[in-house]
Amino acid sequence: MKNLKFVTKILHNKFLKEDPHGALHMPIYDNVAFEFKSAEDIELAFQGKKPAHMYSRISNPTIENFEQKIRIVTDSLGVVAVSSGMAAISNVILAIANSGDNIVTTKYLFGNTYSLFEKTLKSWGLKAKYTDLTKGSFVEGLIDKKTKAIFFETITNPQLEVADVEVLAKIAKSRGILLIADTTVTPPYIFNSKALGVDIEVLSSTKYISGGATSVGGIIIDNGGYDWSKNEKLRGDVKQYGPFTFLKKLRREVYRNLGACLSPYNAFLQSIGLETLPLRVDVSCANALAIAKFLQKSPQVKDVNYPGLKSSKYFALSQKQFEGKPGSLLTFDLASKDECFKFMNKLQIIRRSTNLNDNRTLIIHPASTIFCEYDEKLKQDMGVRETMIRLAVGIEDSEDLISDIGSALKR
Ligand SMILES: *Cc1c(COP(=O)(O)O)cnc(C)c1O
Repeated sequence: MKNLKFVTKILHNKFLKEDPHGALHMPIYDNVAFEFKSAEDIELAFQGKKPAHMYSRISNPTIENFEQKIRIVTDSLGVVAVSSGMAAISNVILAIANSGDNIVTTKYLFGNTYSLFEKTLKSWGLKAKYTDLTKGSFVEGLIDKKTKAIFFETITNPQLEVADVEVLAKIAKSRGILLIADTTVTPPYIFNSKALGVDIEVLSSTKYISGGATSVGGIIIDNGGYDWSKNEKLRGDVKQYGPFTFLKKLRREVYRNLGACLSPYNAFLQSIGLETLPLRVDVSCANALAIAKFLQKSPQVKDVNYPGLKSSKYFALSQKQFEGKPGSLLTFDLASKDECFKFMNKLQIIRRSTNLNDNRTLIIHPASTIFCEYDEKLKQDMGVRETMIRLAVGIEDSEDLISDIGSALKR
């Protein structure tokens, strides 16, 4: 059967090896090492000549099953599941760039990603160059001989800026560099990174995929479209591994050596999460739109920002790129920081917490929390205002959420 849809594919994806007991769910293989029938077999496995699980930091049946599900729904070349979203990003950058290289990106980044680029990787000689990714000519202008990739988030958080992926893909392709997308807030069910020309997709499966904040995890997806002979660091391996060069580099070196592997238990939880991903995405996106519309009509509220609102300058683009479901994050402004805090403290249902894509709706004041380590100038550059509140909308009944917000807005 061809052309099955997302959930059907996830639910009915066959195991790579038949389960001896006919388990419907891939069981949790929470063992460390695997046994071989002969010394010859273990030699072949270590040489990579006969695929087999040897040690769970390198590969494991439960994690492999989770990776296969993602591979099938993304129609990608291969997937590596890792311990967190941050592990996904750091593994990718360390696999494709050497000291002295750079990547082109924006300051509108997940806070820890910015810190990874600005502190951790910088100290090893890797540079991030920041620009406005919604302006193709700015991006072009920053690319030099040492640029290995353009890195972007599909919808930036909390600015909710949306870059035109096809424009970035065209630039990356013409310059022979990689296009890497962090698609955490728009997972594969609503964003087809391969069709839009993204080479490598990374995401924090902690968020939508985990099934509502059950576990921390990350995913690396190779869409299979990049010619690895164009990358200086990986060029030497292309003769041996062809299109699988990057995936081999991870599995046989970077991912293996960094050791940020997913736990089999988390792979199990996230496999279950994947089965209900579309249901949760549909409800939370519809809730986000309903709340955004309600906030727009509330006189105390200014600057409601959600790419699904017709008034958003990214409305048309996000309808096109995200199947009309541009995530469930939204921001809005109140008169002052004080008003923001008062409002947050009055909420009865919505929880004060960081994180997003929990099943519960979560609220946070970004300037005083996620961005508290940055000075005023940098916060301004990052579009983080004192008066701004971020809502990560969940799957509750939208009427209950709107009534909670409505009551808290009343003086
Ligand atoms: C949460 C998040 C990350 C980091 O993911 P962890 O699983 O917490 O390591 C990276 N990028 C984005 C856009 C995120 O929201």
